[in-house]
Amino acid sequence: MRRHRIAAIPADGIGKEVIPAGLEVLRALAERDGGFALDVEDFPWGSDYYRATGRMMPEDGLETLKGFDAIFFGAVGDKDLPDDITLWGLRLKICQGFDQYANIRPTRVLPGLTSPLRAVNPGDIDWVIVRENSEGEYAGHGGRAHRGHPEEIATETAIFTRVGVTRIMRTAFRIAASRPRKLLTVVTKSNAQRHGMVFWDEIAAEVARDFPDVTWDKELVDAMAARMVRKPGSIDTVVATNLHADILSDLAGAVAGSLGVAPTANLDPERRHPSMFEPIHGSAFDIAGKGIANPVATFWTAAMMLEHLGEAPAARRLMTAVEQVCADGVLTADVGGKAMTAEVTAAVVAAIKGAN
Ligand code: ATP
Ligand code: MG
Repeated sequence: MRRHRIAAIPADGIGKEVIPAGLEVLRALAERDGGFALDVEDFPWGSDYYRATGRMMPEDGLETLKGFDAIFFGAVGDKDLPDDITLWGLRLKICQGFDQYANIRPTRVLPGLTSPLRAVNPGDIDWVIVRENSEGEYAGHGGRAHRGHPEEIATETAIFTRVGVTRIMRTAFRIAASRPRKLLTVVTKSNAQRHGMVFWDEIAAEVARDFPDVTWDKELVDAMAARMVRKPGSIDTVVATNLHADILSDLAGAVAGSLGVAPTANLDPERRHPSMFEPIHGSAFDIAGKGIANPVATFWTAAMMLEHLGEAPAARRLMTAVEQVCADGVLTADVGGKAMTAEVTAAVVAAIKGAN
């Protein structure tokens, strides 16, 4: 029996609703498969933990997580606490502490959902966005001078390292090579940002030599935004910087129908540390506690986690069940249905068990 150790961190808001739903579905899959077991440990970290202890997670939190095979994360954010405390105190601490440098964001229009792009064939949207997750524009380098004076200036310097750009590029080429179309678009802004972005283009060309079966092209980020809307079928795998991919993946999520269905993985592809799997959406306080959060993003996230753990057949079974349930119209309000979180979860569990 293969055993996988999972650290579950529901954290805040609807994270506390979708992670238990995800665990229920994972348990059903393990039972059905019979070949693997999940040892799940729950960690009550997050904003309530902060209110009780003054920290988002214990001081030795990373030490505790180190021994796990994967982290299954909900959402972080609180209406009374700043992001500096919540986001930086938990999610980013884990991402940075474990050098999860590759943020992977698949986008598809699931059956039963509609894209706001009316002219588009839903089958045309099947993308994976690979976001550099450790440096670039979000490296935090910069400063302020002459505060409050008319000549005040602020700088925000993007940092691109040969190691950082090469490893994300290799990850993106590897993902592109593993997909049927073997197509990669490298996004930069090298016409206007003539140092870091030209560096990206150069490294892309270097890495491409090791992946002769991948067809790749370059696109400027502004043109890419337009292409995602106008020619979605021309896109498969995309790699971009921290900032560019942040923006493009929100666009991708919107084009696919709802934030409530968008999953992501924060990977350490070298597997030196546990990787972290989470729905893209935040804690969504407007709907928290009502039992109406869409659990599909979390189910898809769970499928990515299973894939990472080497349980590809279970991952496929989960996605087939999710697609069947969506196609049957068992949908939450954010995607035009009336179902509660628990009803969608029960339907997916039933589909996994083959009971309907
Ligand atoms: P963040 O601070 O990360 O932006 P947030 O709490 O603002 O987080 P978002 O992820 O930005 O939440 O989501 C915006 C809105 O989309 C939410 O307020 C909610 O109404 C809706 N939404 C997000 N995720 C879901 C979901 N899983 N199910 C249903 N509605 C959702
Ligand atoms: Mg928001």
